[in-house]
Amino acid sequence: MRRISLLGSTGSIGVNVLDIVRRFPDRFKIVGLAAGCNVDSLTAQVVEFAPDCISVCDERHAKLLQDRLPSIWHNRIFRGDEGNRIVAAHDTADITVSAIVGAAGLQPTLAAIRAGKDVGLANKETLVMAGRIVMDAVAAQGVRMLPVDSEHSAIFQALQAGRREDVKKIILTASGGPFRGKKPEELRQVTREDALNHPKWKMGRKISIDSATLMNKGLEVIEAKWLFGAPADGIEVLVHPQSIVHSLVEFQDGSVIAQLGIPDMRIPITYALSYPERLALPLPSLNLAECATLDFYQPDHRSFPALELAFDALRSGGVQPAVLNAANEIAVEAFLQGRIDFTSIVDIVSATMDRIQGGSEENLDDILEADAEARRRASALSGLAVRR
Ligand code: MG
Repeated sequence: MRRISLLGSTGSIGVNVLDIVRRFPDRFKIVGLAAGCNVDSLTAQVVEFAPDCISVCDERHAKLLQDRLPSIWHNRIFRGDEGNRIVAAHDTADITVSAIVGAAGLQPTLAAIRAGKDVGLANKETLVMAGRIVMDAVAAQGVRMLPVDSEHSAIFQALQAGRREDVKKIILTASGGPFRGKKPEELRQVTREDALNHPKWKMGRKISIDSATLMNKGLEVIEAKWLFGAPADGIEVLVHPQSIVHSLVEFQDGSVIAQLGIPDMRIPITYALSYPERLALPLPSLNLAECATLDFYQPDHRSFPALELAFDALRSGGVQPAVLNAANEIAVEAFLQGRIDFTSIVDIVSATMDRIQGGSEENLDDILEADAEARRRASALSGLAVRR
């Protein structure tokens, strides 16, 4: 029985995790649930999964939750960032699934690692912002960092075909998002609705926009560097619109090992939860004859400059990846609110990166300070009020 604390339980990944737990009640038990402000969904989840501890976004929502739950739950309800950390590091958990969106995922994930929990990582910002600190903590605690992201799960699986020292290249696939093939001038006209309409994956709003700009792939490149200890020039991105080949690893003898599957997040989620075992999921088999063709393209850097920005941040190191991430979070929110157009997202990220230099990747205070400064600058640039 693997006991799971789930951070981000009402989000897209969280709901899929609970679907797996529901299907395998003799394998998994939920011991902690942390959500944002969606009290309706969280209440139903608490009633169904009976966790030991719960966290919700703030005091007001904690009261709402209390009113809906029997009194035995009342002293198990926590709130805010502290609540996330309590649920993440809870005594009874073996593994913490980190599926909070954005920078807010960093501190609870670190708390889980420091409490000796294995981590199922869906929150890529944890490694983008503080990869060095997080992976050092993983090594120091001797815990496992299991990727939930489909591309990183694919690489994790492909790497099992050989020795790390024989790896030549890691190749991340990207669907290309809803705007693949569009020219830069066409991208200026696209709407929020167009951008949210991803052709292959049903995801939350933030990651859908990141997929449309290819910033999601940029963040995944940085995540891959830390997860697999790969240098920036040992990672490549390949556009593959069908999302069947989830990523590949090339070894020095020329062998390329890929992981394939239908695009369903429950596959990588379940592998992270059950590793090294594989559970029987009730999903249709991949039918390659039906796919008929699998296409691959080089990324279009002129239309999608976000990818190169992420490589720049990775090569610069220090706090630049944290700055890239924070500025992007603010710019995406401004786009979702209709304050800026689509191409301004990456312009704002780039301008913010130019203005913030220095800081050490080994110092959490430097990283958090850079994160805050990037948010202020990106907010000013996008005409948004500071939100954090
Ligand atoms: Mg992904």
